[in-house]
Amino acid sequence: MGTEIRGRVIFSVCSYLIDGLLIDTGPHNTRYELVDFIREQKVLVAVNTHHHVDHVGGNRVISEELKIPILASLECASIICNRQNIFPYQRELWGEPQPCQVSVLGENVETEHFVFQVIKTGAHSEDHVVFLLKEKGWLFTGDEFLTENPNSARKGEDNEKMVQALKRMLDLSPEVLFTSSGRIYWDGSGSLRRAIAYYGQIKEEVCKLKMAGFNSQEIVIRLFGSETPLKEYTDGQFSRQNFVEGFNCNK
Ligand SMILES: [Zn+2]
Repeated sequence: MGTEIRGRVIFSVCSYLIDGLLIDTGPHNTRYELVDFIREQKVLVAVNTHHHVDHVGGNRVISEELKIPILASLECASIICNRQNIFPYQRELWGEPQPCQVSVLGENVETEHFVFQVIKTGAHSEDHVVFLLKEKGWLFTGDEFLTENPNSARKGEDNEKMVQALKRMLDLSPEVLFTSSGRIYWDGSGSLRRAIAYYGQIKEEVCKLKMAGFNSQEIVIRLFGSETPLKEYTDGQFSRQNFVEGFNCNK
């Protein structure tokens, strides 16, 4: 789901529906598309991976109009029950979610046939959780894992924490990763292993260049060739520079 800007959907976001469990509710702008979809399906409960506006925008309407209960981590619930301060690019891309009261997740979410474990990862955002369907080896990663080779990040993202979260997910030995971008990784543990190695390798290069006196913008050019156009569009909230600055060379 996503909003079309100049003929193209950028930053599209996925929800997943498994055995009556809806994982994430997408942006505010696409909430009625989600409602139309849900009306045709059997959805018993919805959960949020984290509070970002592209993951919780359908909450209010599916809770009020369809009476579907919604669960989120305590930290997430305490954010989304209030109006969130959002950036102009978020407003344009996804719209502003209406505040919504949700219940707090326990250790598991039970559906008719399955039990999903709730695992706190807390790196992409402090309140982030992922959902493991252990008997199938399926891990729903939200935004905590999107690609094996990231080169952009939100402002303030800490790559040390990201690696901790990747290790936490790897400890679960997942076979398949279902990401919020819609991309599915069929060698889940292998992808997590490669991502951890990639962070280590990029950190080494970033720190070497820092030691040699290059600033973060110069390091972006050296490592990735150019900055992403999304830096300008998001007013610096999402950039390669943020990714480079997310490494702590003193650790
Ligand atoms: Zn997010």
